[in-house]
Amino acid sequence: MPLREACGVLGVASKTPILNLLQVGLRALQHRGQESAGLTIFDGEHITQKGMGLVSEVLDDFGEEFKDGTVGIGHVRYSTAGGSSMKNAQPMTVSAVTGELSIGHNGNISNQDKLRQEKENSGWAFMSDTDSEIIIRMIANYLSKNHTIKKAIQLTMEEIIGSYSIVLLHNDEVYAFRDPLGIKPLCVGQINDGYVIASESAAIEVMGGQVVRDVEPGEILSISSNEITTHSVTNAENKAFCMFEYVYFARPDAKIDGILTYNVRQEIGRKLWEESPIDADIIVPVPDSGIACALGFSEASNIPYREGLIKNRYVHRSFIQPVNEQRKATISEKLNPIKEIVEGKRVVLVDDSIVRGNTSKRIVQSVRDAGAKEVHIRVGCPPIISPCFLGIDMPSRDEFVAPNRTTAEITKEIGADTVEYVSVPGLVKCIGKSEDDLCLGCITEKYPLPIEGERQRGQATLEEFEA
Ligand code: SF4
Repeated sequence: MPLREACGVLGVASKTPILNLLQVGLRALQHRGQESAGLTIFDGEHITQKGMGLVSEVLDDFGEEFKDGTVGIGHVRYSTAGGSSMKNAQPMTVSAVTGELSIGHNGNISNQDKLRQEKENSGWAFMSDTDSEIIIRMIANYLSKNHTIKKAIQLTMEEIIGSYSIVLLHNDEVYAFRDPLGIKPLCVGQINDGYVIASESAAIEVMGGQVVRDVEPGEILSISSNEITTHSVTNAENKAFCMFEYVYFARPDAKIDGILTYNVRQEIGRKLWEESPIDADIIVPVPDSGIACALGFSEASNIPYREGLIKNRYVHRSFIQPVNEQRKATISEKLNPIKEIVEGKRVVLVDDSIVRGNTSKRIVQSVRDAGAKEVHIRVGCPPIISPCFLGIDMPSRDEFVAPNRTTAEITKEIGADTVEYVSVPGLVKCIGKSEDDLCLGCITEKYPLPIEGERQRGQATLEEFEA
């Protein structure tokens, strides 16, 4: 940490007005994107409010025209494809021959450059830099060729390659579709007067609803106030659920494809102890994302768990600080050690992941400054050695601390006494899914989809081939 998620999406169809529900649901998904927020409600036409900032900043004051609508979609965003600007904020709306279309997209289309080029060569014009606009314009184009909305979505899915969990408002109908590998999460639930689609199950629960199920990888469905309807499912032999959702991104109370992320994180803590035990006095989580993992480590090791680092919850959005110096200053403002807890102790800091290493380095130094005798780090994610091309905003390879360094070199760079990571097989075991059904691209350099210049999983290297 800290990495930036790309987006969170939400769709609601109800018998009663939904403005408040959309606000509640988007606040519950705020961790997935903090750069822009928006919602579109149907009330005779699509009406949208969106802007740069948090849900509480952008979506707290509405005109009367928003108050009666009973169907709509919402979105929170951190930019991946396309830059950080208002023109890329979602939902994004276009006019099609059949009416209005609005889209909320989480993910990243890996063949977007090729598609954009093809479409521009055929005379299409785009208003934004996003892959989401390519998708919505492709759907609108198929509608203009007399296809139904379901067929238009299906034909678009056949052309786009990448990760996508999408909510789509077509006039007053709410659709959802998910890529055939199921890379990003998406689930559907029931509320008092209707149905909800959300990136994470926890949002449905916070909205007072009950989770019905995950949207299947490759599925196109729609919700109305009365029912969920599946239109088609495109099956892929193997799936590619993003391992990082389990490790860090999703809320700890989210269930992704039937698995509670909190349990996975605790299990990783136990596995870390099994794989890399250490003599120590206290286990200290790096809050908040290291908490469940640290608890698992503490339980397995019988070393006491102590909250020795305190997070200032009112310092927001450190990751949005564009300049490294600003980011560093915010890190020390954000996490402060309790001297009385760490002084004279052999401390094990448990973190969910290490990306650049800057944050870990500063935390280690601050815990040493507070008097710790030894500072060890245990990490709940194997070394990140390769970028994500599928929807998570990560630095480039040369900014990661792990590539081309041994664990001893990383330990030295960070200034800890020891640094150990959970192994890839250990992580896979803790998630409880087959390795063939997970995306492990950023930790194995093997991606589940063709990505230019990168290896695809299942491909043998020349050395493997020769062996
Ligand atoms: S590359 Fe890493 S972060 Fe990106 S989808 Fe795959 S597992 Fe998730």
